[in-house]
Amino acid sequence: MDVSGEVTLMTQPISIWILGNQLLIDHPALSHAEEQAARQDIRVLLIESQYLLDHRPAHPARLILLLSAMQHYADHLHKAGFEVDYRKAPTFRKGIQDHLEMYNPSRLLSMAASGHSGKQFQKNTLPGITSLPTEVLPNTQFLVGQFNPYPQPDPDKQYIMEYFYRELRKYFQILVDGQGKPAGGKWNYDQQNRKPLPEDVQIPPLPTFPPDKVTQQVTAQLSPRFKPRKMGFDFNLAVTHEQAARALEDFIQNRLGNFGPYEDAMTSRSSVIFHSHLSPYLNIGLLTPLQVIHAVQQAYQSSKIPLNSAEGFIRQVLGWREFMYWQYQRDMPELKNGNYWHADNPLPAFFWDGETKLNCLQEVIHRALTTGYNHHIERLMILGNFCTLAGINPQQVLDWFMSNYVDAYPWVMVPNVIGMGLHADGGKIGTKPYISSANYIQKMSDYCQDCKFDHHARTGSGACPFNYLYWNFLLHHQERLKSNPRMALSLSNLRHLDQEEREKVKEQADTFISRLE
Ligand SMILES: Cc1cc2nc3c(=O)[nH]c(=O)nc-3n(C[C@H](O)[C@H](O)[C@H](O)COP(=O)(O)OP(=O)(O)OC[C@H]3O[C@@H](n4cnc5c(N)ncnc54)[C@H](O)[C@@H]3O)c2cc1C
Repeated sequence: MDVSGEVTLMTQPISIWILGNQLLIDHPALSHAEEQAARQDIRVLLIESQYLLDHRPAHPARLILLLSAMQHYADHLHKAGFEVDYRKAPTFRKGIQDHLEMYNPSRLLSMAASGHSGKQFQKNTLPGITSLPTEVLPNTQFLVGQFNPYPQPDPDKQYIMEYFYRELRKYFQILVDGQGKPAGGKWNYDQQNRKPLPEDVQIPPLPTFPPDKVTQQVTAQLSPRFKPRKMGFDFNLAVTHEQAARALEDFIQNRLGNFGPYEDAMTSRSSVIFHSHLSPYLNIGLLTPLQVIHAVQQAYQSSKIPLNSAEGFIRQVLGWREFMYWQYQRDMPELKNGNYWHADNPLPAFFWDGETKLNCLQEVIHRALTTGYNHHIERLMILGNFCTLAGINPQQVLDWFMSNYVDAYPWVMVPNVIGMGLHADGGKIGTKPYISSANYIQKMSDYCQDCKFDHHARTGSGACPFNYLYWNFLLHHQERLKSNPRMALSLSNLRHLDQEEREKVKEQADTFISRLE
């Protein structure tokens, strides 16, 4: 009993290890620990692992965001009454060992990592570090963790995102009526969502969050490692939950209405166009998927937003995001090593400086290197498409993507690059390879206007490399592609190429590829 006469509960101290990309306000280990101990007996461990910072190059914006958000999160927990042990350590193992030695808790809680190596660490290494009871709670950053529509997936079967997504919509009651029927009578409005961007459509700017003291300190701490990068950048991302919520609100107010029709459009006028630019926040727990989905559903229900935009956006978060996470959990570690097309050409050096005469690639790579962001179609139909057609080694492509994006985390990068972008998993994730000639790029962007290559010409001097690479890919892989009904139309167009043209295509593609360095 304390002097005020109130009974003070004596509880055993508990430690919670929270990973840097799990900065959830409602982190499940916090509530779990509070069921067993008083708040003052709960200590949160956050570790800046030197190994993770060093083991591969990363985009500066990704590291600054991560470390600044971790420090703001520590401050938030501290203000909420938790004791926080924020440490810099060479590895997670050392950080945890030092923490346990210093604080001697009765048990250690954590939430399952999203990435394969983090999960392996929790399962295999953690129990060897300590004899204390350790408990790893299910990951609540993803909705499939709370509902699995394919309880016992067949490892060799292909699952289709569309059906997976519909199940999740019914389960979480998103854009469905009381009978589980889709809003507006259709599940999918993609047909309305493939418009190029007209010149007179104005694009609103992204909100900016000027770096505060914490972000400035983190930037100074990290800046020596950014020196070798050729391109500079300005950091202006949200680093707290409150700022990320403002970024969400800004998207709903200013861009969501036009998200649907222009979601596949590309332009040199803007990298984000009407996309949300929310992946950096969703991927580290500053926003949660249901928070974002409910906000968009509400905007639709209050009649502010057309259904094709609301559904198109929710499909990305509830459909693609969850599907990719689920596929990653299902297929790792094999997924990472996929190389279905036996593609072994090295990644060209221009991916590291943007110095190429192909205007689309130059624009898109330059954006990635400076801002750490491209929207989905630029990642898929410019970068992934080029790498597939040019036969670039998938693991080299994966390394480049991991090193150059602000939202890069293995659970999302591996299935998107190996599966969706390159079809190097043989088609478990995507139902067909996402490849195209210059025709698609010309139709959906303004990049071809200022390009020295001719997007009409299939071969000959000045022909756009996307053209002869595309036809060469179809010719080279036609036996494999024949087994895919979704490729039938593309393959049937090969009949327009006579033998002479086929030889020209092959020769020009071979010459182009042999000169890539
Ligand atoms: C080759 C390739 C690499 C990619 N690498 C990443 C990556 O490292 N990190 C990442 O978060 N996304 C990645 N994506 C998926 C997608 O391109 C990005 O999530 C999206 O461009 C982020 O921008 P946004 O927030 O403006 O997205 P919006 O277009 O506004 O979409 C809204 C949200 O939906 C989710 N989403 C949409 N598509 C996907 C998808 N295919 N997989 C997972 N989530 C999706 C994201 O959380 C995104 O924030 C990759 C896609 C490809 C083709």
